This record gives sequence, structure tokens and C-alpha cells, in this order.
Amino acid sequence: MTYTYHNPTVIEFGKNKIESITNYIPKDSKVLFVFGGGSIKKNGVYEQVIKALEGYDFLEFSGVEPNPTVETMNKAVKLVKEENIDFVLAVGGGSVVDGCKYLVAAALYEGDAWDFLDGSAQPKEALPLGVVLTLPATGSESNSGTVVSRKETNEKRYFFSPFIFPKFAVLDPSVMSSLDDRQLANGLVDAFVHTCEQYITCPNDSLLHDGYSETILKGLVSLAKDWDKRDTYNWQENLMLLANQALNGFIGSGVAQDWATHMIGHELTAFYGLDHGRSLAVVQPQLLRVMFEDKKEKLLQMGQKVFNINDAQETIEKIEELYHSLGVSTNLNDYGIDNKVVSNVTSALEKHGMTAIGENQNITLDKVEEILNLAAK
Ligand code: NAP
Ligand code: FE
Repeated sequence: MTYTYHNPTVIEFGKNKIESITNYIPKDSKVLFVFGGGSIKKNGVYEQVIKALEGYDFLEFSGVEPNPTVETMNKAVKLVKEENIDFVLAVGGGSVVDGCKYLVAAALYEGDAWDFLDGSAQPKEALPLGVVLTLPATGSESNSGTVVSRKETNEKRYFFSPFIFPKFAVLDPSVMSSLDDRQLANGLVDAFVHTCEQYITCPNDSLLHDGYSETILKGLVSLAKDWDKRDTYNWQENLMLLANQALNGFIGSGVAQDWATHMIGHELTAFYGLDHGRSLAVVQPQLLRVMFEDKKEKLLQMGQKVFNINDAQETIEKIEELYHSLGVSTNLNDYGIDNKVVSNVTSALEKHGMTAIGENQNITLDKVEEILNLAAK
């Protein structure tokens, strides 16, 4: 096994940590405080951030939508350039964080920053970014990836860059009390699938990586079982810890990674607006069935280590039951899709050069079609 692992994001974890942002934002900075649709004004997070920013020169930018778009974020890019902003503070869930990762790279780029998303250019620099996370799910608070959409063309794409790693991320689980069940379930599913994308792959025989992933998966299964305790600090703290570790880069270092569920899920969100977590819940069980030969060894191991069963097929059923237990449907027909779904998704994957995805690059478009047909139950 060989890998390079470097995660530079400082994590400030625990109650009342929002005030610690001043340790990382230089006093003479001009800050852009970015948030979403206003949930932070209802749960006290906005006030805590404003209090911490006392004495700083700062502006606000709000309205970043779930599945952030370049149409919205380019308005922030304009503001950053006009106002000579030199520090961006993202306060919200994965969408605000991802939108701001695009923003910090786009702000120092001369051309159309969609270039980063279609792969025709790589960022060479970015403004510094800090995060106050309000929704544990994506791991975006301490990784180098971002997923951004372009409404005009129904596209949802991603890019990675070492320059967009946040400088710090505040993870205070008490901000989760205002999350509704839909977002909480989405977050748990997203973290679960992130772990699976880096674990249900072969070859992969590192005891450390496997054990780490199994601990995350077991933790998430246990939180789903304890769903009635989701208002307790301990439950919230655990989800925040697990979701962060699921995608901070370590469990994927040096191992085969899949990510096909995410790639197909992104197209479903781009066309039909499915929540990210739900798009994954629809795709993943069927993908595991269609790719069973490749996945069976690891599914058996996962069954033994995570669900205490001894059957690879049954592991897929357990995963699906887990999503159902959270009120998340795995049936594509429950999400208002039309009969063009297969052609929409496969032609978008083709346009994006993703005609052979997964860790063995053998999830071809005919397999995607099979997966989606099985998902429309
Ligand atoms: P989100 O889209 O950031 O937020 C979903 C909703 O939850 C928003 O309406 C938001 O409202 C609300 N919300 C957030 N925190 C809240 C709180 N504490 N209380 C009440 N409501 C709250 O959800 P997400 O699942 O974190 O992010 C999803 C996005 O991340 C997708 O675009 C997905 O593709 C991407 N993603 C990125 C990565 C990565 O590594 N970069 C990985 C996986 C997924 P407000 O807008 O009003 O705040
Ligand atoms: Fe995800």
C-alpha cells in the first residue's frame, strides 16, 4: 500500500467553540460571512458568529441554496472581488461549505470558474476559508472536495484541490438541535455511503483501514437504532464525529475507491432535485446487487463485522433496511421522477466522460441502466 495523507484543517470540536474562530481569522482581515437560507437565524448560530466577529471588518452573503449553484456563488465572487475580501467564513451545511470552496478558488481566477468543475483548469490558489458546520453529513468541513451545480444546464459536478481545504472547522454538536428528521437522516445516510464507497472495494486488505471503516459503519448503525435519542447531545456528538471521519480522507488513503453511487446520485439530483442523501439511498443497494460479483467478498466481511450476519446478499438487505428505518425510501418512484430518468442519467454520465465508473471501472452505462431500472420498483 502507498499513499500520501495530509489533512491541514484544524478541528475545534465541542460546545461553545464558535467563539474560537477569532484564533484563526487574522484581525486585519476583511471577512465575508456566508450562509444559506436562514436556519442559522433561528438556532442562535448567527448571533454567536456575529458576536465572535465583533471588531472585524465583515460583510454578509446569504441565500446559498441546498446543492449550491454557480449562478448564486458567482454573485459572491463578484462581491469578494469588488470589496477586496480576504477571508471567507462559511456557516452552514455541506452546501454552504461547498459553495464557499468554489468561491475561494473562483475569487482568484481570471476565467469562468466552471472550468474547475468541467476539469479544463485546476485552481492554483484560493482565499483562506473557515467553517462553522451546522449539519454533519458531507465531511466537506475538512476535506478538499466540492460539489457544485449549474442550474442552466442541469449539471452537478465536483472538483478537488489542496487549496480549498478549510483552515479550520468548528464542530459544535449543540447546533444540531434545530435539524429536522429529513436532514438528520440524509446526513446519516451520506456518511454511511461515504464510508462504503471507500470500504466495499477490493483489493483492500489493510486491517487499519478496514477496522476504521467498520467502526464508523457500526457507529452509524447504532445511531440509527437509537433514533429516538436523536435529541440528546451524546447522539448528536456521535453523528458529528462519525460523519467527519467518514470523509476526511484517511479511510480512503491507499485503498481502492468506488464513488459510482455518488456519480449516479449527482445526476439524479441535477435533474430531479433529490436530496443528496436520498439519491444515494436509491442507487447504492441496487448497485451492490448489480455489481455483486465484485463486491461479495467485502459484503460478507461487512455482514460479519457490522451487522453480525454471515451472508453477503443479506448485507445488502440490511443496508436497505437501515435506510428504511430512517424513513428514507430506496424506491426511485417515490421521488417524482419521469420516464426519461434512465436516458437523462446515462446521457449526462456520457457527457461527463463517466462511461465506466467504480473501483474497477466496469460500471458501464448498461449497468447504470440496470441499476436505475431495479431502483424504480
Ligand atoms: P445542506 O444542503 O447544506 O443543507 C440542507 C438543509 O438543511 C438546508 O435547507 C439548510 O438550511 C438546513 N440546515 C443546515 N443546518 C441546519 C441546522 N443546524 N438546523 C436547521 N436546518 C439546517 O445539506 P448537506 O447534506 O450538509 O449538504 C449537501 C450538499 O453537499 C450536496 O450538494 C452534496 O452533493 C454535497 N456533498 C459534498 C461532499 C464533499 O465532500 N464536499 C460530500 C458529500 C456531499 P439553511 O440553508 O437555511 O441553512
Ligand atoms: Fe456524499
